[in-house]
Amino acid sequence: MKISTLEDLLVEELKDLYSAETQLLKALPKMAEAATSKALKRGFQKHFKETQRHVERLKKACAELDVTPMGKKCMAMQGLVEEGQEVIDEDAEPEVKDAALIAAAQRVEHYEIAGYGCVRTYAQLLKKKKLARLLQQTLNEEGKTDKALTQLARKINVEAEDPAGDVPPPKKSASLTKKILHAVGID
Ligand code: FE
Ligand code: FE
Repeated sequence: MKISTLEDLLVEELKDLYSAETQLLKALPKMAEAATSKALKRGFQKHFKETQRHVERLKKACAELDVTPMGKKCMAMQGLVEEGQEVIDEDAEPEVKDAALIAAAQRVEHYEIAGYGCVRTYAQLLKKKKLARLLQQTLNEEGKTDKALTQLARKINVEAEDPAGDVPPPKKSASLTKKILHAVGID
């Protein structure tokens, strides 16, 4: 399809996101299965359900524009899912694997955040308020997922650094700030 208007671009990007979300829908149960941390497992399961809703919203968005969401393959998500699969297949300590799963999942979320941010803005520029609101909802959920993964990483990355648990947890951020200030010579 020739992309000559912003609306054409919006349609192309929605199709790309639809492909991305449907690919992710297949990958998330595998990531949940590979996770050891119960909280991480639950996080992946929760995001699986959200992703089902994201797919539905994209169908709605495309119906709104009178186009089919099908017809495009998101190559970036294909690569991100392949990297996730590499992590799943990795022979690693459970805590380390969980940390790697989080890293893979956050790459996915950041990709989606970029994609939804763009389509939401195009919809706003084209004065399609309903569409912009719909896409904003998904954008918010992707953002929340990313933040939840960051929270989980705080705990899991510490465990990955020390699977046996004999090193005390890192000091509070105040002392870290001190260390950084000292390192740059301004303490
Ligand atoms: Fe999504
Ligand atoms: Fe997502």
